[in-house]
Amino acid sequence: MKQLFSIKNLRRLSRILFICIILLLPVFNILRYDSDTRELFLAGKVWTLGITETDLAASQYGEIKSSARIALRFLVRAIIPWLILLSIFPVLGFFFGRTFCGWLCPEGALFELADFLTRKLTGKTSIWQREKMRSSLSKGQRLFYLIIMVFLLFTIPPLMGIGLTGYFISPARIWHELTTFNLSSGLKAGVTGVSLYIFITSIFIRHLLCKYICAAGLMQMLFGWISPVSLRVRFLKEEANRCTDCKRCEEVCFMNIKPRKNVRDISCVNCMACLEQCNKELGRGLFSLQFGEKAYQESREMKKLQGQLQ
Ligand code: SF4
Ligand code: SF4
Repeated sequence: MKQLFSIKNLRRLSRILFICIILLLPVFNILRYDSDTRELFLAGKVWTLGITETDLAASQYGEIKSSARIALRFLVRAIIPWLILLSIFPVLGFFFGRTFCGWLCPEGALFELADFLTRKLTGKTSIWQREKMRSSLSKGQRLFYLIIMVFLLFTIPPLMGIGLTGYFISPARIWHELTTFNLSSGLKAGVTGVSLYIFITSIFIRHLLCKYICAAGLMQMLFGWISPVSLRVRFLKEEANRCTDCKRCEEVCFMNIKPRKNVRDISCVNCMACLEQCNKELGRGLFSLQFGEKAYQESREMKKLQGQLQ
């Protein structure tokens, strides 16, 4: 039971649920833009600016009340929602660091799946890694993972492509095109574009994209970095003498962080994999997840003190 609710499994579950939500939003018209009708659907309804022809005509003749009404509608129904949308990742970063990347991001989930299969097949986490990790798989088991990898490589990208194209082409139309084998150029372009993107990023780029390219990740990184309250994984320095130097916390970190250093690493996605591994090694591990600056201040003060003593 404990194993069932392990951090690894909870993270898997949260990501699968989030992927389902992402794919279902357009199906239920909760969020999508219909490129045929040029309508934006939000929360099940067509979202308009709510500006009437009468107001438009009156404002052209200089009627101040109508002009003010148009400006107010534009503010409330266009500018404010847009600002709210833009502020989601900075706000998340400010309070939770990069927790979204570690617990919800669908792309991160695909990259970790690719890491897992590459490790099973080659003993390395990515094609760029030099050192192999410990592996005790037989040839038959490797073949099994190879078949799984090939199957997923040819199913996940087109399926995601179909799902994400639903944000621009009506899901009903997509379904009709698929069931009649009559794909429009829009659907073909959507599926090809998304598939190529997933193919290339999952094989060659993976977490480098999370570190250096993804705008959502960079925003969370920046606001998590400047925030005095954001959620972070900390190494309990005061108990460091219990560390067996097994390095499991480092081996498991797919963002290539050395979590024992306890520096405020902006790449950390709060996945808690290091914490879970250390708990396995020691029973009561040396990592904790905390809000705020305290642990870093203490570690900085400790370093300063050590510098003064030398
Ligand atoms: S340091 Fe720990 S919590 Fe942060 S990304 Fe690495 S494994 Fe995950
Ligand atoms: S997993 Fe824990 S015991 Fe092992 S090296 Fe990391 S901090 Fe030390």
